[in-house]
Amino acid sequence: MSAQSSGQVADAVCSRAGCRATAHWRIDWRNPRIHTADRRKTWVACDEHVDYLRDFLAARDFPLSVAPLAETGAPR
Ligand SMILES: [Zn+2]
Repeated sequence: MSAQSSGQVADAVCSRAGCRATAHWRIDWRNPRIHTADRRKTWVACDEHVDYLRDFLAARDFPLSVAPLAETGAPR
């Protein structure tokens, strides 16, 4: 597994493993096999890795949505 899934978004640092860049995007996703319909995981991503993380989830057919952090407000 190359991406962290800690759910820690308070400091809005990219969720990509090893990346310490400031996140500008949030990716809300769910694994239908282990999560009930109302559960969401949130990853945050820098500009460089938002595509990587989105593709990582999309390749597994997980439902996901990507939104700019600025628009939704940084999660606290
Ligand atoms: Zn990154």
